[in-house]
Amino acid sequence: RPVHPDRRPAVVAGASSGIGAETARALAAAGFPVALGARRVDRLEELASGIRAAGGEAFVHPLDVASTESVEKFAAAVTAALGDIEVVVSNAGLLAPGAILDATTEQIAAELDVNVLGAHRLVRAFGPGMVARRRGDLVFVSSDTAVRARPFMRGYSATKSGLEGLVEALQMELEGSGVRASIVRPGPTWSEMGSDWDAEAGARVLTEWVKWGHARHSHFLKASAIADAITTVVSAPRGVHISPVDVNPEAPI
Ligand code: NDP
Repeated sequence: RPVHPDRRPAVVAGASSGIGAETARALAAAGFPVALGARRVDRLEELASGIRAAGGEAFVHPLDVASTESVEKFAAAVTAALGDIEVVVSNAGLLAPGAILDATTEQIAAELDVNVLGAHRLVRAFGPGMVARRRGDLVFVSSDTAVRARPFMRGYSATKSGLEGLVEALQMELEGSGVRASIVRPGPTWSEMGSDWDAEAGARVLTEWVKWGHARHSHFLKASAIADAITTVVSAPRGVHISPVDVNPEAPI
């Protein structure tokens, strides 16, 4: 196992499946001690066992990014376990199918609460310490929908463009601080997202994406491709900032 020259403890928020789980594996394989957070703790424990069996260091703690109290408790626990956190991957996200006209405002608010406010809760919990130490990486998993909206995903596109607005402003505020805020923008990726949709809703979403020219939808990336991009971003030497990073399938149809 490669040993990172500096010990750089990393948090993955939303590590229990998909992109987050692969990111935790990739970071651990690159020598980062990893703290895994999500609501499904059984899944995190399973992931942590695999990471430890491969020679990595992993710590598990429950995390609900929709709760400020949960994020604060998580931050205290992971810092006590691994030391000052140097990398935070804000990956937790929600996507539900459906028309905006049919969505209740409360449903859209719940999406914003995880996809945007959840990221901000992580910034509040870990950012000030990084600035005080003059080092750190905050990485935000956005989506290609942030730059080009897709229909029939309720408020999802708005949450991701909102997230990017927050992060771009944060990047400016962090200028010269030694702390990098980075955006990684996956295209369609195999994960558990969408696995709970009914077939009709899923088919409609895909049909509409094709209609509006999101032709790449049928080429899905492996979650490990996003994990590799995130690992590259946080492994860049000091003074180098890789952001935003678009990760898409090689061959659009
Ligand atoms: P998954 O559904 O597989 O993973 C989502 C992760 O978010 C899970 O670990 C889930 O954990 C976690 N999560 C959801 N809500 C919360 C919460 N309130 N608190 C803590 N964790 C939470 O999907 P993906 O891997 O695809 O999604 C990861 C990120 O990638 C998301 O931000 C998504 O928007 C983004 N993305 C995905 C794309 C895709 O095509 N798959 C494309 C572009 C972006 P748990 O339920 O255990 O809490």
